[in-house]
Amino acid sequence: MSNSIKTAMQNFAVNQALNYVEGNPEENLPKLMALVDRFTPKDWYVSQRNAVRTAIEEKNNWYQLVLRMYEMAPRVRRAFFQNFLFNASLKGSAIQNETSEREGCNIPWAVLLDPTSACNMHCTGCWAAEYGHQLNLTLEDIDSIITQGTELGTYMYIYTGGEPLVRKKDLIRICEMHPDCEFLAFTNGTLIDEDFCQEMLRVGNFIPAFSLEGFEAANDSRRGQGVYKKVHEAMAMMKAHGLPFGISTCYTSKNVDDVSSEAFFDEIIAAGALFVWFFHYMPVGNDAATELLPTPEQRVKMYNAIRTFRSSKPIFSMDFQNDAEYVGGCIAGGRRYLHINAKGDVEPCVFIHYSNVNIHNVSLLDALKSPIFMAYHNGQPFNDNMLRPCPMLENPEILPKMVAETGAVNTDYQSPETPEHLCAKTSVYAEHWTPTAEEVWAQSQAR
Ligand code: SF4
Repeated sequence: MSNSIKTAMQNFAVNQALNYVEGNPEENLPKLMALVDRFTPKDWYVSQRNAVRTAIEEKNNWYQLVLRMYEMAPRVRRAFFQNFLFNASLKGSAIQNETSEREGCNIPWAVLLDPTSACNMHCTGCWAAEYGHQLNLTLEDIDSIITQGTELGTYMYIYTGGEPLVRKKDLIRICEMHPDCEFLAFTNGTLIDEDFCQEMLRVGNFIPAFSLEGFEAANDSRRGQGVYKKVHEAMAMMKAHGLPFGISTCYTSKNVDDVSSEAFFDEIIAAGALFVWFFHYMPVGNDAATELLPTPEQRVKMYNAIRTFRSSKPIFSMDFQNDAEYVGGCIAGGRRYLHINAKGDVEPCVFIHYSNVNIHNVSLLDALKSPIFMAYHNGQPFNDNMLRPCPMLENPEILPKMVAETGAVNTDYQSPETPEHLCAKTSVYAEHWTPTAEEVWAQSQAR
């Protein structure tokens, strides 16, 4: 069977299943699973099917999360299932794997890009502040990146910045130009308004993730007075319109107790968030504060909290640093994602500001074959211990070597930082973290 016929058949089957569930999810989800069991070979997707069956039978937190998705506006839910689950994950992964084998390089599941370096706020420790405040990717640049990406099998595009919603008109235009892709934006939330909600409802394929650093005092001390209230107003507006959204949270030595607490999870679920992404603080930039790095005990606290709440709360939570075991280690360098800054420099990761190429001069595929990307491709995983995935944070001897060998240059134009300077900050952290990481990893493997 040709790939296009197989894809069309899968697409048809997924659509039929979604139509079936749509009318009455509580009643039809169990029936759908019974149909899947009856008509698909017993040895297909055994563990996934068991997980879904358990969720339905036990009506556990995953089942509750699915039901919460049926509170979303139908058009948005449809786009999410089609673009995120089918195009980006099922169909896209197959194309990414084929392309990766053929081209001999990594092909990403997602492309992160900064539409602009402009921001209406100035938060402590934000990597975006390091790039300067007047750079933009044009509408044509973004369109070209996505057009090239979909040819490689990439249907997921994530905006960072700067504040991406400074460019909200262009971002909606891009949603219209690429209705088969899913778009997510990390945003401070202060530019969400009624008109923009209507636009998100119209296009269906744009999901914001609001930055929150904990409860009101911790959040506003980093992001500015009154910002916490504004984010909660934006979330209430989104929820009232049946629009999906998530939260992104950077954990530091100062806020880890708040953001790992049950009260924080309950608060964001009550506000309507469907997912939360946690980011470990990274001391990137010449002036970065090393005292914000979590201690080993604090990192373990985060590790345990997310595992507890992921199996008990109706929200999808992920920790960019502690969950590497689920994706085989470091995902940068195009292995699952890459980052293009507002100047067009193609970087392996949002935290790794070293690059050989600019997207204005090379194709996306050529960028994936550039020296530092191939160093990632050839070096991954950087450590067998999945609690030590990073060539900068937990294996600080690796990044300076990769940068020297590939001739990649720093892309922080305000205050260029050498990899040696960056990794001198993380080497103390890595030394302290290693024994704990070894112990926790060994325990997790023994379970
Ligand atoms: S380079 Fe480090 S921070 Fe970036 S994806 Fe890899 S492990 Fe994570």
